[in-house]
Order: sequence, then structure tokens, then C-alpha cells
Amino acid sequence: MADNCLFCKIIAGEIPSTKVYEDEHVFAFRDINPQAPVHVLVVPKSHIACAADINADNSAVVAHCYEAISKIARAEGLNNGYRVINNCGEDGGQTVMHLHFHLLGGEKMTEKMI
Ligand code: 5GP
Ligand code: ZN
Repeated sequence: MADNCLFCKIIAGEIPSTKVYEDEHVFAFRDINPQAPVHVLVVPKSHIACAADINADNSAVVAHCYEAISKIARAEGLNNGYRVINNCGEDGGQTVMHLHFHLLGGEKMTEKMI
């Protein structure tokens, strides 16, 4: 756990959240400011600041996150698809420096950057 990291505190239960999924490696909870009917943040329990810090030693957490995303999407009824977003660093628009994936769904995504 990193000092003064909001998501580390949420994972530890020091800050309340609406949990939707948890396993050994991953914690997932509803975004406080949802951008879609379903907006879940999927985070590794280990503190990695952003995608730029993924390396050969820690990259398994990304696979764990995507395994969780698949389970959560099924549980949330996102049978028609969904979007997964990772913002990295200042130019990527990341505001919380603990690696996380936004799982968005429950309606057709309209804005498309790529
Ligand atoms: P980022 O901008 O770093 O990609 O995403 C951070 C996300 O965390 C934002 O969508 C924001 O709404 C969400 N967020 C910020 N603070 C909290 C909080 O205290 N609780 C929850 N559940 N979500 C938060
Ligand atoms: Zn953290």
C-alpha cells in the first residue's frame, strides 16, 4: 500500500466504496462519478502508479484485471459489449495515480476517439 493513495485506501476499506468484485489480486468498485449506466473501476491490489510502470515483473496484474473485467461484465449483464479505458499520466488524463481500468457499459457508447 502506498502512502496517501486514494485507491490503496479504498482497497484497504479505509475509505468506503461500493464494491462489485474482489479476489486475491483485484478489487473493483463503482465510480463515484459514473459516465455510463455501468461504470466500474477495476484496480490491482498491488500499488502500480500507471500503465507506464508495467514491466515483466508485474504485468500479470493486467491479465488478472482483464479476467475480472470479463466476470464483472457478465455479472452486470453487459451482454451486448462494453468499453475498457485506461488513462495514463497527465497527458492521458489520469487523475488517480493507481493503475485502474474503467469498465463502461449499459448503453451504446457514442463518443469514439479511435
Ligand atoms: P482517472 O481520471 O484517473 O482515469 O479516473 C479516476 C476515477 O476515479 C474518476 O472516474 C473518478 O470519478 C473516480 N474517483 C475519484 N475519487 C473517487 C472516490 O473517492 N471513490 C470512487 N468510487 N471513485 C472515485
Ligand atoms: Zn495505490
